[in-house]
Amino acid sequence: MYFIDTHAHLDMLKTLTPQEAVAKSVNEGVKYIINVGSSLDGSKKSIELARKFSNVFASIGVHPHYVRNFGKKEIKILQSLIQGYSGTVNNNVRERYKKVVAVGETGFDFYRNLSPRVDMERAFVSHIELALEYDIPVIIHDRDAHKQTLEVVKKYIDQKNFRAVVHCFSGDVNFAMQCLDLGLYISFTGVITFPNASGVLKAVEKVPVERYL
Ligand SMILES: [Zn+2]
Ligand SMILES: [Zn+2]
Repeated sequence: MYFIDTHAHLDMLKTLTPQEAVAKSVNEGVKYIINVGSSLDGSKKSIELARKFSNVFASIGVHPHYVRNFGKKEIKILQSLIQGYSGTVNNNVRERYKKVVAVGETGFDFYRNLSPRVDMERAFVSHIELALEYDIPVIIHDRDAHKQTLEVVKKYIDQKNFRAVVHCFSGDVNFAMQCLDLGLYISFTGVITFPNASGVLKAVEKVPVERYL
């Protein structure tokens, strides 16, 4: 058995180098790592990491914290990151494809509210459309915004290639069931170890293993 770390921020480490963290992970049975972009700069770093390490893959996107004024210019940059990656890796076809494996993280963060909510929503929609365009999944960040997250997601469930994970799940069992009904995957994280995590733990019990990350 091996693990895939689907949500790493190797570009934000404080005490280890990415090299050290990747080596440690491999030692613990982590075969692949997806480094998730939180900003344009972070997305570029994700791609650099994917270039550097054969077992690291990239997700590109702008976190809801940083989407104030997110618009066409930012979308163009994200598109060019996906396309740019496709063209330049030593003509190695196998590496050209599939190293940018997801779009995100994107969604809503009503806990910190660092960007206006309208900006979060506009950016979220743009990220989903980008993912559909390139036929890759979406990594959703939802903090205290379950209702709004579902409202946006519902507009896309009829799209055949819409695939998404609610990362760092913090809802209860009801919300988990709604996510499953919409075809979403759910990622559980250290949140399940918090003393007040009983709601999330109930969700863990109910989500079938093939639907969680
Ligand atoms: Zn993250
Ligand atoms: Zn997140």
